[in-house]
Amino acid sequence: MFLRSLAASTALFLATSAMAQQDADTSGIDTEHLVETVRTMASDQFEGRAPGTVGEERTIGYLIGRLQGLGLEPAGEDGTWTQKVPLLHTRLGEPQTLAFAHDGTTTTLEFPKDIYVSTLQPSDNARIDDAPLVFVGYGIDAPERGWDDFKGVDLEGKVAVFLVNDPDFHAGEDEPVAGSFGGRTMTYYGRWTYKFAEASRQGAVGALIVHETEAAGYGWNVIESPGGENYDVVRKPEEVTSLALQGWISGETATALFADAGYDLAELSKTARRKDFQPIDLDTTVSASFPVTQEVVDSQNVLAKITGTARPDETVIYGAHWDAYGEGKPDAQGRIYRAGANDDALGVAGLFEIARAFKAAPAPERSVVFAFWTAEERGLLGSEYYAANPLFPLARTVANFDLDILQTAGLAKDVILVGKGQGTLEDDLARFAAEQGRTVSEESLPERGLFFRADHFSLAKRGVPVMLMMGIAGASDLVEGGKEAGQAWVDAYTGDCYHAACDAWSEEWNLAGAAQDIALFRDMGAELANSDKWPGWKDGSEFKAVREESAAVRGD
Ligand SMILES: [Zn+2]
Repeated sequence: MFLRSLAASTALFLATSAMAQQDADTSGIDTEHLVETVRTMASDQFEGRAPGTVGEERTIGYLIGRLQGLGLEPAGEDGTWTQKVPLLHTRLGEPQTLAFAHDGTTTTLEFPKDIYVSTLQPSDNARIDDAPLVFVGYGIDAPERGWDDFKGVDLEGKVAVFLVNDPDFHAGEDEPVAGSFGGRTMTYYGRWTYKFAEASRQGAVGALIVHETEAAGYGWNVIESPGGENYDVVRKPEEVTSLALQGWISGETATALFADAGYDLAELSKTARRKDFQPIDLDTTVSASFPVTQEVVDSQNVLAKITGTARPDETVIYGAHWDAYGEGKPDAQGRIYRAGANDDALGVAGLFEIARAFKAAPAPERSVVFAFWTAEERGLLGSEYYAANPLFPLARTVANFDLDILQTAGLAKDVILVGKGQGTLEDDLARFAAEQGRTVSEESLPERGLFFRADHFSLAKRGVPVMLMMGIAGASDLVEGGKEAGQAWVDAYTGDCYHAACDAWSEEWNLAGAAQDIALFRDMGAELANSDKWPGWKDGSEFKAVREESAAVRGD
């Protein structure tokens, strides 16, 4: 039974893939369908698809209509198509207090020039009173690497000060730490999201990351650009962060803070690259008080499924985000909506095409879920809410495939892999790419940590094996024009259109390469949906341990 249906449905997909070597149109992905979806979702009627707006209402209605038309089943809450996602939106006002105190001297700080912070606590006032500052190096607790920066220090009621990125980012080849955190490749421990979460786990009331342009990957202008605003999902009281304020301290301010306490930041940064680093009390306290405006925005994920015939409680989940940036200032052509045609209406269009292929094939043995996340652009929040409140158990979620920005410059000889070395799905990707006559290339700037910056990551950090397709992760080796043309496309998109009104559909789009990328995910998911295999994490992945905690549930 199992073998027969596996053979039947993979044969279908493999046949279409093999033909794709000669002609992209036989990938089985209909590029006309893709265009139609993108043009609809990016039209003015949808007002840039910002969560909580009339644009959301229209988008949700449109998605549900399409899913019904495709013959899928609702997979949201209580037999509906949606999962409610309440979002917390906060904004800091002008600080009433913001100062360091050391040895009887108070130093007033300027916001956002010296320190940039925001809050994710649902409170009208974000306040820290005379909390001791403790330098915790890179602030990493990574048992699988035998690394613990905290060494049991008590952070309760204190403010943790961190270095950005991970300990081997600046390390020379002769240092023992070299290569143990992926070299230039950023690990999860290098991300500010990890550092804030870890500080909260340890009970700190505040967290400040020392800014440094090279290791952060961006300048202070990017840090301060949200203007004191932040978003989170609404959390249960026991899951609200312990951090009243979280953010960044400028390199200059940090250097002065350390010097006042009798330390050299540059020297201590080197010490922090050692396993035997000990946290340092900076003999300084910080006080801060900001008025906070807060509101709850009601948004929704949309979920649909095809129920598996043999093992319906095991799920392969495809994802893309429906939200975009809403309304903004008019661009040169007078466009006010930042409609995310590529980011991520094209991903949504890809999911519809994958769903269409699944419906045309014999029903899969495992269930296949199609998730259309909200609020990706606010910080992966729709997928985070789902992962914190899953509608299908994560322990039996086989894999998550996420489409978020596809290249629109035509056929490519390769596919770009994001997060090399993380999971076994990359081996499947290489195998299916070879079926298409393509090779796998690595993302070009792994130090940017793209692997941690799209919706698949909300599931990955809870152990679900994942794969992300993101066209701007590197220069595709285009059939016409090679890598140079691929890089030119990436530069043009990221330079002009990313998160801007210019991310609009254009007649110049050539979706032949995107169709192949979508077909790859369709085929990888179809194989898993018709097998009893459980993909996993590779040795050294920071997510292997959390998946293994639930190994008994899968019998692997
Ligand atoms: Zn996106």
